[in-house]
Amino acid sequence: MAGKLYVVGTPIGNLSDFSPRAVQILRDVDFIAAEDTRVTLKLLNHFEIKKPLVSYYEHNLREKGELILGRILAGENCAVVSDAGMPCISDPGEDLVRLAADAGVETIVIPGPNAAISALCVSGLSTSRFSFEGFLSTNRKNRLEHLEQIKNDPHTLIFYEAPHKLLTTLQDLLNVLGDRRAALARELTKVHEEVVRTTLSEAVARYTEQSPKGEFVLVLEGARPQETSAFTLEDAVFLARQLSDGGLKPSEAAKEAAAATGFKKAEIYKAML
Ligand code: SAM
Repeated sequence: MAGKLYVVGTPIGNLSDFSPRAVQILRDVDFIAAEDTRVTLKLLNHFEIKKPLVSYYEHNLREKGELILGRILAGENCAVVSDAGMPCISDPGEDLVRLAADAGVETIVIPGPNAAISALCVSGLSTSRFSFEGFLSTNRKNRLEHLEQIKNDPHTLIFYEAPHKLLTTLQDLLNVLGDRRAALARELTKVHEEVVRTTLSEAVARYTEQSPKGEFVLVLEGARPQETSAFTLEDAVFLARQLSDGGLKPSEAAKEAAAATGFKKAEIYKAML
């Protein structure tokens, strides 16, 4: 009979966030697929767990995935973990879960901390609908294209970023998305945990003066809905014609109607004629 695959969340800083169930699963499985075996070994040592580890990371996903699946199909239970947080979220795991699912292997999640959701919860921004954008590409063209795609998204936006790229990312966000409210959640669950609720322009100024340290999640307010006029162009033209019939010169009538309705004077004037 085939074994099972457990997707186990690990702490994003504070080891006390590791759940008793997660500890038990790591004790019970036959082996652990870990993003970085040295990082996971520290976690295992802390909880006095002894378990064989296989490395499973970005550059060996294919060959190791097949190998891990083979062991599960032969009857072993496996837990997949990443260095911090939930596997599969900007971390290895997604491919292994797909392989397991395709092979009919039962996959069970042991939920744990996740930096994006934790940051969203303390951002002070809308949590009702949000979009997780992960890391922006390091390729400038790709990152700008990504930002163009989402610039009118009304939902709260969540990004991961490394400290040495934070300032460039903030500048790109400001240039493409415009100034908007932002929360920078740093070192969550750790000693220097901090949430800076600010705006993109202030964040750029702040991190131009001081270099960012630690791990960051950026949470941004979604695009505000375009302000729409309560009037149609036909309303504006109708008003301008009435003013003109009342004695105003057409250009003055168009100007007055523009002020009253928010449409451009030239647009009204052209439509009047
Ligand atoms: N799988 C992880 C999760 O579930 O959150 C994310 C892994 S991703 C490779 C690492 C990124 O997550 C960091 O660059 C940072 O943006 C964010 N991150 C991880 N731990 C964090 C923490 N304690 N505080 C703030 N951000 C954190």
